[in-house]
Amino acid sequence: MENWKFKPESLMMSYGYKPELSEGAVKCPIFQTSTFVFQKAEDGKAFFEVAYGIREKEESEEMGLIYSRLNNPDLEILENRLSLWDNADDCAVFESGMSAISTALMEFLNPGDLLLFSNPVYGGTDHFIKHVLTKFGVEVMGFNPGQSMEEIEQMLIETGKADKLAYIYLETPANPTNDLVDIKGCVDLAKKYTTEDKKVYVGVDNTYLGPLWQNPLELGADIVIYSATKYIGGHSDLIAGACSGSSEVIGRIKVLRTFLGNMASPYTGWLLMRSLETLKVRMERQGDTAKHVAAYLNNHPKVEKVYYLGDLEEGSEQKRIYDQQCKSPGAMLSFDVVGGEAEAFRFLNALKLVKLAVSLGSTESLAQHPATMTHAGVEPELKATLGITDKLVRLSVGVEHHEDLIHDITQALEQI
Ligand SMILES: *Cc1c(COP(=O)(O)O)cnc(C)c1O
Repeated sequence: MENWKFKPESLMMSYGYKPELSEGAVKCPIFQTSTFVFQKAEDGKAFFEVAYGIREKEESEEMGLIYSRLNNPDLEILENRLSLWDNADDCAVFESGMSAISTALMEFLNPGDLLLFSNPVYGGTDHFIKHVLTKFGVEVMGFNPGQSMEEIEQMLIETGKADKLAYIYLETPANPTNDLVDIKGCVDLAKKYTTEDKKVYVGVDNTYLGPLWQNPLELGADIVIYSATKYIGGHSDLIAGACSGSSEVIGRIKVLRTFLGNMASPYTGWLLMRSLETLKVRMERQGDTAKHVAAYLNNHPKVEKVYYLGDLEEGSEQKRIYDQQCKSPGAMLSFDVVGGEAEAFRFLNALKLVKLAVSLGSTESLAQHPATMTHAGVEPELKATLGITDKLVRLSVGVEHHEDLIHDITQALEQI
């Protein structure tokens, strides 16, 4: 038993929490406090040195609590638990997915650097890259799904700034079409352009399949990023984000988080610990249910095409990438209805059990119209290239019984 390694789902109820430090409470309480009392002035000094990155933490040193912008037990225990899913050294939790994404980009980019990113990325990320990073002198270049690694490298060389490449940022599967980007191919590209003086970092937004079904760190990525609002939170009752990676990478991200002040609150941390206890059962059930729904949609005369990772064509490049990096098709699918915006809206307006709302990964199923909702801000030309058309509907499958979901979808499709 000594070398037994417990699986993450078995550790989510207890890992990192010591009941004896909290009156024996079986659950970690909410540490609703702004500041923490130091036993001695020397302790305060030592804690600040580590928190501000003035020196590295010693092997045997236990980091003390200072102030809830820097650290808090609810966040620290949550971070220890979240790290387990990606087998990461460390994790940093944020007040939103966007703050995790923006902080993990800013820490590793300087004016004059080049950022390469996959299209389409989440709308907020797209805006941050194109309108905020560029304001600080970062050059940015997007590539599209379906482009080979050779084509991407050729584009990079043609910018004349390949030596400035500092970061490759990916989101895969892409929202809302489930197009896959080759994580390992991008890691190899980053390695090729890494020099002694400058490392090229790879960050992956893993919200869609992670942390259960895709683990970019295993494929060599440096930073895995989550909107914890989605599967990790899973109940549509909070906004949060997270980054996992090596101690060195997350240490740097945490220092910037301290100065931006965009950490999650103790209450959000506590809610997320509650959510992590059921993460695996929820996601597995959602994945199974999605399989039934996809199979049903595939055979419906009012549905033109289904975008579901379980249906990739054997022998295709997308299937090769899927086999390399995905452990399940997940619980997100999109489909084209026969018709256009009017038909898609008729379907959405007729849904009863499935709610018409953006967001994803929660216990309740949600449907929305990407072209006019989540992706309304994408330039029309890019929208067309990416296949985000007026007839496209996105569905996030929850934990309801699949027969009930199919019943609801059937009656809504009849309205088309
Ligand atoms: C929702 C989402 C985000 C943004 O997360 P927030 O928690 O809303 O800030 C980023 N990336 C993906 C893929 C998302 O779905």
